[in-house]
Amino acid sequence: MRTKPDVLVVGCGAIGLSVAYNLAMRGMRVLALDRVGPGAQTSARAAGQSVIAQTDPAMGQLMHRSIETIAGFEDNTGVPFKYHQVGSIKYALADWSASQLSREVERARLLGADVSMVALDDAQRIAPHTNADVAVAAWHAPNDLYFSPPDMLAAFYSVAKKAGVEFQFGEDVSDIVIDAGKVAGVVTGSGRIDAGAVVMTTGPWTKELLARTGTILPAVYVRHQYSIRSGVPGIHPGLPSVRIVDHAVYARPVGANLMFGTYEPHPLEFKAVPKRAEDVPLDGAAIETALQKVNAVFRGLAGSSVVELRGGVPTMTPDGSYLIDEVEVARGLYFATGCNVMGLSCAPALGEEMAAWLATGQRPEVLKGFSIRRFADRNLSSDEIRRKALGEYEGIYRDTETAGHIRRYGALPGNMHAG
Ligand SMILES: Cc1cc2nc3c(=O)[nH]c(=O)nc-3n(C[C@H](O)[C@H](O)[C@H](O)COP(=O)(O)OP(=O)(O)OC[C@H]3O[C@@H](n4cnc5c(N)ncnc54)[C@H](O)[C@@H]3O)c2cc1C
Repeated sequence: MRTKPDVLVVGCGAIGLSVAYNLAMRGMRVLALDRVGPGAQTSARAAGQSVIAQTDPAMGQLMHRSIETIAGFEDNTGVPFKYHQVGSIKYALADWSASQLSREVERARLLGADVSMVALDDAQRIAPHTNADVAVAAWHAPNDLYFSPPDMLAAFYSVAKKAGVEFQFGEDVSDIVIDAGKVAGVVTGSGRIDAGAVVMTTGPWTKELLARTGTILPAVYVRHQYSIRSGVPGIHPGLPSVRIVDHAVYARPVGANLMFGTYEPHPLEFKAVPKRAEDVPLDGAAIETALQKVNAVFRGLAGSSVVELRGGVPTMTPDGSYLIDEVEVARGLYFATGCNVMGLSCAPALGEEMAAWLATGQRPEVLKGFSIRRFADRNLSSDEIRRKALGEYEGIYRDTETAGHIRRYGALPGNMHAG
């Protein structure tokens, strides 16, 4: 790019690609950098599922709008993006988890989500590859969807290029240049790149980069992984995603195979995140342990075999919510991270909101609750941050002490009031 870009987007995962695309659609000159390539790291390894049943308004709105964007993507952009809007089922296998499902449905419906408790016979009909007899309760969200993450990444990369975003790959950002309290650009192996504003969408590598500005993110890094299994009878792409509260397990079709992921207790934690997602050590045994507990739910699981193991490093935060802000000591330097294993499916709406913020100078209502200032008066020690963030990971399918916190920290977006 010969002229200085209005905005430099660092990191071309799902969030960066969406931010870059939406900025260009608003007429801004955008340069997007990545040290690897477009969508080659955490985003490419995600499970690719949406969860419409959110419990806080901001997440509910972002998820709802992202699902709409995905469903209308091809019509609106002319670029293909294959998705499967086949809904999702969540099972509870015990009384405690059944009451949790009821609470989830109650909260999600207040946010306008189409989710309801269903009779186990209906759950069985909707998810015939499961055995609803072993469950105590189930909810059903017919609008949930899944997709192959590389398809989403290719689609956003394609529309971003069409919209005029310029890309440079193989650029490893090592420093951020600040001049008189304002960001001036970044430093890479090939020199300094100036820009009017910089957005860091560097996934699990954001904390390390922002530390150079003195900004310490309350973030913890753990491994999250799933296996893809062949030989489970009756699997086809039209089956819904299935989640089991009690054992923090999810499953969705991958063609005729079945993907199984689990939120392990005591996940592998990284003080320093491996530089490449492919260097994250995976451990199939941890998934097998969880699967043994849900053998009775999935018909034919026992005779199946693993064809692939995938994983990466999501960013966990002490309250299970995103970290999205402008750096106080470097105006014009923004970041969007803290995905809590939910950054891929909301990337379409997150990109729109970040672009609106940069283009108008006004932080959108829906992003206000994600400011890191919410931690300012909490004085969390690093041990507390770690304990709470790990608790958010292990308890991701359970109510936690912080459930609903955005309602305390942020304003309810206007169109999210219960109707
Ligand atoms: C196994 C697994 C399953 C998941 N399932 C789901 C799911 O079903 N639904 C969901 O919503 N979310 C899911 N997630 C979470 C999801 O993957 C993340 O929230 C999302 O990918 C975050 O996207 P990102 O753009 O922030 O990060 P990334 O995809 O990691 O992108 C960051 C980019 O920044 C680049 N970068 C980093 N540092 C530098 C630097 N110094 N210089 C230049 N470039 C740099 C990297 O190369 C990378 O391309 C899952 C995660 C995992 C690991």
